[in-house]
Parts: sequence; C-alpha cells; structure tokens
Amino acid sequence: MPVDQAAFQDLKKYCDQHHVQLVAVSKTKPNEDILSLYENGHRVFGENYVQELVKKQEELPKDIQWHFIGHLQSNKIKYIAPFVTLIHGVDSIKLLRAIDKEAKKCNRIIPCLLQVHVAKEETKFGLDIHELRSAASEIFLEKKFQHVSIAGLMGMASFTEDESVIHSEFQQLKSIFDELRSTYKEHTTHFNTLSMGMSGDYKIAISCGSNMIRVGSMLFGARNYNVDS
Ligand SMILES: *Cc1c(COP(=O)(O)O)cnc(C)c1O
Repeated sequence: MPVDQAAFQDLKKYCDQHHVQLVAVSKTKPNEDILSLYENGHRVFGENYVQELVKKQEELPKDIQWHFIGHLQSNKIKYIAPFVTLIHGVDSIKLLRAIDKEAKKCNRIIPCLLQVHVAKEETKFGLDIHELRSAASEIFLEKKFQHVSIAGLMGMASFTEDESVIHSEFQQLKSIFDELRSTYKEHTTHFNTLSMGMSGDYKIAISCGSNMIRVGSMLFGARNYNVDS
C-alpha cells in the first residue's frame, strides 16, 4: 500500500498550525515508504524495534532524526545510543541510568522522555504519577545523570472508543507535565516536550496540549506484524 501523501500534507499542515512536531511512525514499513516522506521534506521518524531501527539508520539518509518510541531493553541501548535523537519510553530510573552509561561511552547527551502511565490498561508501560514525581526529583534535584537530558513526558491513552476517557487521560498527562515544568523550571530549560497522540487520537491530544504526536497507520497504512523485534 503506498504512503498516503495527501494525508501527510494535511497532517503536516495541521501540526504546523498547532506548533506540534510530527513523528512519522515507520515501524514494520519498508525503506521506500520512509523515503517517500523524506523526499517531501520530512525528517523525523519513529521506530519501536532496535534491530529494525539500526538497519534503517544504516541504509537511509544520515540527516534523518530517529526517535525510539518502543519499549527499550537495557542490553540493546548500545546499538542506538550513537545516533538516536530522542528516546520516548523511559519508564524507570534503572533504564535511565543504563542510557546514561551508554551515552557517556559515545560522548553524547541523549534526550529522553519519561513515559507516564495514565491509561486504564495494565499492559501499558510507564511510571505512575507518584513514581514520576520521585523520579523527577532524583533527576533534577540530585542531578545524578550527566549524559541524558529529560526533554519532557510521553504517554498513551486507553484503547477505547470513549473519547471522554481519552480526553481525561490526556488532560492528566498535561497537568502533570505542567506541574513538573513549573516545579523544576529553575533546574532545567529542556523540559518542553509532551509526546501524546497517535493516528486515532491526535486531535484530542493536541486539544489537551500535546506538542509532539506519533502517527503511523494514518500515513503508512495498517501494519503487518510479522517482523522480528
Ligand atoms: C505504533 C505506535 C504509534 C503509532 O500508532 P498509529 O496508531 O499507527 O498511529 C505511536 N506510538 C507508539 C508508542 C507506538 O508504538
């Protein structure tokens, strides 16, 4: 299925109007799909699987900004640490410490988002609000990490048709984002990104204050999950 260029142009325009960064989620999709958006000027792509991301990074133009949006295992950080632009799903201090260690080896400071759990589903990853507050104080007050920079928060709403549930979960995310930003404004100037919203719910997310959306199937079509992760 070809990339939906019209959907891309409309979405890009919508994002620009709302000052939102679009991350095109290309997991499971071939290089040619990525190139077809690249040729229209898009540079920011999101991937969920380390092996797939590494392969694409090797094969595709070097000015692509790769975001890792999946669940990252500590033993795989080293493969993406040299080039990754933003890691969205940091859900523990332990993982952050491991990223810090690999970033140091590459002599980099890697921007990361803390993943917050607001959805009803147990299957979704992330820190709850209490864990998040305590992580933030370790990160910003105790300054334990020199090679990661916490750029903001990422979250996912429940998978439901009920828009009021989605709306309220995104509002919770925005409110904890605002709280942390104001609490730590003297300690960081980097905490500016709120990554929430996907193909099915990005408009609700933007109305709740998202400034980064991760959209895949709306641009690239439905995914076929027969890939190694
Ligand atoms: C796959 C994925 C997306 C994109 O989802 P679509 O519904 O295809 O837009 C966004 N965020 C995360 C974390 C994902 O895993």
